Amino acid sequence: MRAAAICGSELGGVKNNDPSRKVPLIMGHEFVGVRADTGQLVAVNPLVTCGTCDRCLAGQQNLCRNRALIGVHRSGGFAEEVAVPIKNIHELPTGTSILAAVLIEPLANAWHLWHLSDATPTSRIGIIGGGAIGLMTALVALHSGAQHVTLADVSEARRGTAVAAGVPTVVDYLDGEYDVIVDAVGAHETREASIRQLRPGGRALWEGLHDGDTPIDGRDLARREISVLGSFAYIDDAFAKAVQTVGLVDERWVNAVPLDDGERIFHQLMESPDAYVRTALVPSS
Ligand SMILES: [Zn+2]
Ligand SMILES: [Zn+2]
Repeated sequence: MRAAAICGSELGGVKNNDPSRKVPLIMGHEFVGVRADTGQLVAVNPLVTCGTCDRCLAGQQNLCRNRALIGVHRSGGFAEEVAVPIKNIHELPTGTSILAAVLIEPLANAWHLWHLSDATPTSRIGIIGGGAIGLMTALVALHSGAQHVTLADVSEARRGTAVAAGVPTVVDYLDGEYDVIVDAVGAHETREASIRQLRPGGRALWEGLHDGDTPIDGRDLARREISVLGSFAYIDDAFAKAVQTVGLVDERWVNAVPLDDGERIFHQLMESPDAYVRTALVPSS
């Protein structure tokens, strides 16, 4: 292991006593290491799939009926060493920033969202939430030629990072009308906003997992022909695309801390999030 980022889903899972995030599980699904046999620097796609179910055969590996996530359903990257299936590793060019590469996993989510959005360069794209996935989605949209990208976040620190990263329009709340809205938060209010601010026939993409049941006006969806699509993780192609475009990531967004300090850092981040996009645990070599 060289670096493993602490994801908001892990902080939230521990804070909310999620039964899937309990000891003896070793968490960590956003990580980079070197192959023990070759010394090659690799990123790991944490989604382990069967390759034989109908969804795998249709190329929707993220919807595999037997899917498991490294760091959730089996031992993950907060460790000195981890065993992963060889088909899940992606070699990184020599010289790739290790800290930037821990953001390949959220970047893969962003590529998957982008492909689901069906957006064109002239689409008005709104993104709610400027955490890792929201920020990456804005950068992927811009990289793909989108001309109208607006990112909304209530956190001043996150807005500052998005502005510095080159997102052209950064606001605290979306207003006006959009063709596509990505909700990278998943709270009741953000889901509601992702529908309210859409044009008739627009598309909302729900990636965030903050809340469960959200009351939605079904008549409004029907009358305005709104599409709401869920989005989970990434297909293999999106992960490969993220590896190729790791240059979109700025390593200064990642705060490196020693793995030995992991427990303290974890509690600290659960209490008060900092201004970094990610904090990564780095084993002492
Ligand atoms: Zn994550
Ligand atoms: Zn499968």
